[in-house]
Amino acid sequence: MIIIMKPSATEVQIGQVVEKLKQHGFGTHLSRGVERTVIGAIGDKTMLELDTIQMLPGVSEIVHIRKPYKLVSREFKQEDTVVQITKSLSIGAGQKIVIMAGPCSVEGKKELLEAADAVKRAGAAVLRGGAFKPRTSPYSFQGLGEEGLKYLALARKKTGLPVVTEVMDTREVELVAKYADMLQIGARNMANFNLLKEVGKTNKAILLKRGPGSTIQELLMSAEYIMSEGNKNVVLCERGIKTFETATRNTLDLNAVPVIKKLSHLPVVVDPSHGTGEWDYVPAMALASIAAGADGLMLEVHPRPEEAMSDGSQSLKPETFASLMKELKRVAAAVGRKL
Ligand code: PEP
Ligand code: MN
Repeated sequence: MIIIMKPSATEVQIGQVVEKLKQHGFGTHLSRGVERTVIGAIGDKTMLELDTIQMLPGVSEIVHIRKPYKLVSREFKQEDTVVQITKSLSIGAGQKIVIMAGPCSVEGKKELLEAADAVKRAGAAVLRGGAFKPRTSPYSFQGLGEEGLKYLALARKKTGLPVVTEVMDTREVELVAKYADMLQIGARNMANFNLLKEVGKTNKAILLKRGPGSTIQELLMSAEYIMSEGNKNVVLCERGIKTFETATRNTLDLNAVPVIKKLSHLPVVVDPSHGTGEWDYVPAMALASIAAGADGLMLEVHPRPEEAMSDGSQSLKPETFASLMKELKRVAAAVGRKL
């Protein structure tokens, strides 16, 4: 349930409500909006006579959230959330659209610096690149691990671009968080609840990708796992789902953008690279994502896609990426956004 405080409620009154909820075994989460403060309370309602909360000074009303996800829901927080990726870069709430671009995998120092330089020059705001790679085959390239993280940190130093990279294992959260600005939870790990809880204990921005066989509600439940541990900096990512269609690697579910926007206050990013699996479909779907209301894009870009160690067929060449950026600016302007 949520306890909506009156606009005039004082800090002391908010504190009293929180204290009372805690005494009855409830977990509490505060959301301070422009107009009102809302206290999310998660626990066993049979342990508490609700009237005793309603009577406390400063309380406006108690609302029961019927959705299984609570902190993630629009009912809990009406205003769009702005997630701070770094001190100077944020995403959400109609702010600048954030373009995250770079190779699928960090393959080597030289290759990464080349890619980072190219995406920076074309106007990307974040560098992407996997050091720990979730591959379908155990015999495929698994990523450079910590060495790859070091190259990402070096690329950030050289270009000034913040870095998003995947963390696959609870045992590596601390290590990856040491190097990355934003932690990516890959599609295959969307329902790895221990991993979600672990990144929920950090204060890093999290990019949570939708599993290829997961519903939007399941994605929101996974975000709830992260938020319930205290980390509110969650960005959701639509990256395509499995359908009967075989013409593309996945079916990019752009419905997810307006649906998530309605159900949740969290920012939404779209990844048309994994969503289509083919580079020449990527620009159209990237433009469509912005038109649909996405707050950002994740795009795979490789200096020489034909030499890529993973996902070369869906990676844009730097020049294609640069011309796409120009088109994205036009679509962004048409929907009242900036790139
Ligand atoms: C990736 O971003 O390279 C990746 C593996 O994505 P996904 O988890 O969406 O398949
Ligand atoms: Mn990839």
